[in-house]
Amino acid sequence: MLDDLEPETLALHTGIHRSQFNEHSEAIYLTSSFVFESAAQAAARFSGEESGNIYSRFTNPTVTAMQERLAALEGAEACVATSSGMSAILACVMGLLSAGDHIIASRSLFGATVNLFSNILNRFNIQTTFVSATDIDEWRSAVKVNTKLLFLETPSNPLTEISDISALSAVAKQANAWLVVDNCFCTPILQKPLELGADLVVHSATKYLDGQGRVLGGAVLGKRDLLMDGGIFSFLRTAGPTLSAFNAWVILKGLETLKIRMDAHCAHAMEIAHWLEKQKNVTRVFYPGLSSHPQYELARRQQTAGGGGIVTFEVEGGKEAAWRVIDSARLISITANLGDTKSTLTHPATTTHGRISQEARDAAGITGGLLRIAVGLESPQDIKADLARGLLS
Ligand SMILES: *Cc1c(COP(=O)(O)O)cnc(C)c1O
Repeated sequence: MLDDLEPETLALHTGIHRSQFNEHSEAIYLTSSFVFESAAQAAARFSGEESGNIYSRFTNPTVTAMQERLAALEGAEACVATSSGMSAILACVMGLLSAGDHIIASRSLFGATVNLFSNILNRFNIQTTFVSATDIDEWRSAVKVNTKLLFLETPSNPLTEISDISALSAVAKQANAWLVVDNCFCTPILQKPLELGADLVVHSATKYLDGQGRVLGGAVLGKRDLLMDGGIFSFLRTAGPTLSAFNAWVILKGLETLKIRMDAHCAHAMEIAHWLEKQKNVTRVFYPGLSSHPQYELARRQQTAGGGGIVTFEVEGGKEAAWRVIDSARLISITANLGDTKSTLTHPATTTHGRISQEARDAAGITGGLLRIAVGLESPQDIKADLARGLLS
C-alpha cells in the first residue's frame, strides 16, 4: 500500500509500530537492553534463530523506525543509522574494504571526509586518488586493479559542482567497484542516487534530515545484502558508532517536515541567488538552479525538485570585503553548519577550507572573496536586507 505514496506522505506514515498504548506520535524507546522471556529465548535471539531486539548497540525500535522512514524516502531496500555523517562514511569503508584496497574520490568533498581518506585510512594501507568532481575521464583513468570504492558528493561544497551520478555508476560497474554518494545537500526530496545507479547512499542526518540544528546523526542506505551481509551493519554493531534512540527520534520527527522544508529552502535560495546576481559588487554566483550554472542541464535532470539550499557567491575585494559581509549581518548566524532552519554564513577560505594549502585552495577555486550561505527558512526579504548591509557598505 505504501509503494504508491508521495514522499511527504511516506515521511508521515512509514516506520510506525504502535505500542500497547496506541500512541499517535511515535514513541521513544530509551533503553540500552531488552528483556527475554526465558533462557531459551535469549539463546535463540543471540544465535539469530529468532529475530528481535537484544541490545541498543545492535538494534533499537526507535532507530529502526527512523531507518524504515528514511529507506522509504530514498527508495532503498535497507538503511542502517549511525551516530554521525562521518561514522556513516567510516562504516562503508570498514564494512566493505580491506588493507590494500583503493578508493577514488571527488576532490570536492566535505573537509573531514578528505581528512579521513587521506590522513587516517592511508595508515591502514587504503589509498585514495582524488579526481575532479566533473571530469568522468579522470575517474576512468584513476581506476586500478584494487579499486573498490568510488565516492562523491553532489552538489559539491562550496562551489556547487554537479557530478554525473549515472555516468560514474557506469565507471564503477566497469571497475567492479561500489559507487557511494553522499546525498547530504540534496536529501531524497531532490535527488535519489540509488535510482541513478549508486550502490550506497550516505547521509549526515545532522543537516537537512533533522533540519533544525539539534542533533548529530547519519545513515547508510542501499541493497539489503550489501548493508546487512556485506559487513556494514556488522561493523556498526561490533564497533559501536550506532545512532542513539533519542537522536533517532528527533530525526524521525524531522523527516515529517522534510518535503516542505526542502521546497522552502530551494525557493528561498533561488530568490537570493537571483538577487545576488544583480548586485554590482558580486562577481559570481554559484547555484545549480541558475541558468548561468555551467551544469544547469545536468542539475535539472539529476535534482528533480530544485537547486537546494546552498548558494555560494564571490564579492569584489577579496577576504576583507567578504568578512565585511559576514560581520555586518545581524540576522544570519556566523557558523559553518548547514541544513538548519536558521540561515548560516561562512567564509570557506578561512574556515571549512582553511587548513588546506593555498595552492590546493587556488586549484579548487576557493578564493578570498568567496562566501557560502546556507539559506534557512526566514523571509528571503529579511535575508537580502541582512546581506545588503555588508555588500553596500
Ligand atoms: C556535515 C557533513 C558530513 C559529516 O556529517 P557529521 O554529521 O557532521 O559527521 C558529511 N558530508 C557532508 C556533505 C556534510 O555536509
